[in-house]
Amino acid sequence: MSKIYELNEVWFRYYRDWILKDISFQVEKGELLGIIGPNGSGKTTLLRILDRILIPQRGKVIVDCLDLRGIRRREIAQMVAVVPQEPQFSFPFSVLEVVLMGRAPHLRSVGFEGKKDYSIARRAMELTDTWRFSARSITELSGGERQRVMIARALTQEPEILLLDEPTSHLDINHQVEIMDLVRDLNTSRGLTVIVVSHDINLSAEYCDRIVMLSEGEVHQIGGAGEVITARNLQDVYGAKVLVDTNPASSAPRVTLLSREGL
Ligand code: ADP
Repeated sequence: MSKIYELNEVWFRYYRDWILKDISFQVEKGELLGIIGPNGSGKTTLLRILDRILIPQRGKVIVDCLDLRGIRRREIAQMVAVVPQEPQFSFPFSVLEVVLMGRAPHLRSVGFEGKKDYSIARRAMELTDTWRFSARSITELSGGERQRVMIARALTQEPEILLLDEPTSHLDINHQVEIMDLVRDLNTSRGLTVIVVSHDINLSAEYCDRIVMLSEGEVHQIGGAGEVITARNLQDVYGAKVLVDTNPASSAPRVTLLSREGL
């Protein structure tokens, strides 16, 4: 497998304090990588760096063998699509209009979508089961429906890399599984590289090939779920008392929270 991302000694700060410190890791093409860590540990900041919304003050990010700094915005958008945490829409665009926005990086400067763009959008909407409400307003949809629309928009961008920021945080358990199943299908059937930030440790353990655990802006550990999701790491990084055993259905690690009095 070849590498799609290489982060070499990346440091980033918004103001005075370093928020990401000496981050180095690589992402393989076609991998489903999870990023976990407590609130404020730098997960969203790291995702923004991977999309070059933010530029690190030190270190280098290489994407597909190119320095991310030197690539034009439009080219990045042709390669990387982002599903944001809480998409906000104040204007009642139709679902189809929202999905077609994904074609923007592929259109000429004043271009309108053509037949090919519509057919790419439609395919993405069928895949995410959003075509049936294509005429509805984005503002009317439930959280799970809107999340699927955002994934359809990202796919319409025809990216190689999909970055998702807490895609399941506002969803009930059924929709959490539905979204993650969809993401994994896209990963395996289309070879999309997927990087997903989540604070749901069990969901990450279940779906991700490897997991990066961040702690106060540093990589605490990176590896398979079995190596990263341990009671020791969760105690050290989250300060949480947990029981980690094995999910009998999937063999992935399974985390159970313990009360202070428990065990
Ligand atoms: P996480 O996603 O793990 O919760 P974030 O990357 O959102 O963490 O935040 C990491 C740190 O950076 C936090 O201390 C947060 O307050 C700070 N931070 C995030 N966004 C900004 C910003 N736009 N300006 C200044 N500080 C920020």
